Amino acid sequence: MMKNCSDIEPFMAGLLKRNPGESEFHNAVQEVASDVIPFINENEQYQGECLLERLTEPDRIISFRVSWKDDLGNVRANRAWRVQFSNAIGPYKGGMRFHETVSQSVLKFLGFEQIFKNSLTGLPMGGGKGGSNFNPKGKSDDEVMRFCQSLMTELHRYIGPDTDIPAGDIGVGAREIGYLFGQYRRLSNTFTGAMTGKGLAFGGSIGRKEATGYGAVYFMREMLKTKDETIEGKTAVVSGSGNVALYCIEKIIQLGGKPLTASDSGGFIHDPEGIDKEKLEWLKDLKEVRRGRISEYAEEFGCEFHEGTPWGIKADLAFPCATQNELNESDAKTLINNGLLALAEGANMPCEPEAQHLLRNSVLYAPGKASNAGGVAVSGLEQSQNSLRISWSLIEVDERLQTIMAGIHEKCSRYGKLDDGKIDYVKGANIGGFVKVGDALRQCGVV
Ligand code: NDP
Repeated sequence: MMKNCSDIEPFMAGLLKRNPGESEFHNAVQEVASDVIPFINENEQYQGECLLERLTEPDRIISFRVSWKDDLGNVRANRAWRVQFSNAIGPYKGGMRFHETVSQSVLKFLGFEQIFKNSLTGLPMGGGKGGSNFNPKGKSDDEVMRFCQSLMTELHRYIGPDTDIPAGDIGVGAREIGYLFGQYRRLSNTFTGAMTGKGLAFGGSIGRKEATGYGAVYFMREMLKTKDETIEGKTAVVSGSGNVALYCIEKIIQLGGKPLTASDSGGFIHDPEGIDKEKLEWLKDLKEVRRGRISEYAEEFGCEFHEGTPWGIKADLAFPCATQNELNESDAKTLINNGLLALAEGANMPCEPEAQHLLRNSVLYAPGKASNAGGVAVSGLEQSQNSLRISWSLIEVDERLQTIMAGIHEKCSRYGKLDDGKIDYVKGANIGGFVKVGDALRQCGVV
């Protein structure tokens, strides 16, 4: 039985007992609870309703087998999930991840974070997440298609434009969304906005592909403004070379900054001259079309390739855009000692808790639920366009994205302002995200 807790220790002890072995989920909840429990204690209207206890228990988790045949005719089986975490403020919304490390714990942490992130955007979207331990790397297009079709054959019963709207995430890009949506359309015999991140030819939004990376840089711009600083002339260390990282790099270049690194699971490249527009186009082709490795960049442009992560490279700004727990305490110390000014998370929970603690107290530090919300925000705009059966221009979408990112920054500043005038963006994002969801829960009865 869950009881109302006004203390973090018993609250976390109960959560750990109910969710054994789910370390990613524990970390995500601990971070939110350590800000939200004191807030509830100070605000009577949120007390006595078990709000955080209810919010840490998913509405439901659907777990299922995905059987498919590889190109050699072997039958293969994977496991897939959809975690429908909370629809308190809108239909469940969150990406699908295909990666060998996907587990229920990872998807619960991502789904939980998504509740607060989606709330921060101001759009009516609940929190959800899904995925499979399927690894698309090295698979042929036909294999990926058969896997996606098999997965959607099960998943289609649980999603829909007013129920749950999946999108992409690690390992789920334009190709996978196309196959998933195609099968959804066939099975449901409807053409609705039941998925986002769709291709432009079949209901996708202009600017969705760019949105998470661009949004992270827009959020960074807002943080820097508070110190009368700009992106122009600043060096940046970026990890990843997937959807988020590529468009983060693009926006840094457009705003006059100098991205020095990019990475994948094999290692990172360090280009002291900076990744410029032409090199980025080459990199996009490498990653989005040829599905090559980042080491090929070093061969093409004659710079260094190293194994590991890029956090040892001196830079003014940092954008971790690859995956969770990719930046540890020692990396954080190195970045700070090298004069880091600000860090905005493009990935979800890329900084380990000890690293986050250090960064939060030393530099401008934006947690992913605030700084990477641009992707889901434009997914929300894609839903609106689908419902209205219209398409907005890139200028319209980008203007809305900039407004939404500035709005998230404003909420973080409002709820995260400390007595000394500094902004704790983690606190601001946690409380700013919680308030709307908490209000909705309070007003809708005990459900
Ligand atoms: P992609 O699959 O497009 O790219 C992921 C990148 O990270 C690749 O370069 C990949 O390298 C690297 N990577 C993945 N796992 C590891 C690992 N264990 N160690 C080192 N590198 C790794 O994913 P996205 O760019 O879409 O997502 C990146 C992050 O951003 C994730 O945390 C995701 O949840 C988050 N995010 C994404 C959004 C979106 O709109 N796409 C929205 C909000 C957050 P390799 O190819 O070698 O595996």
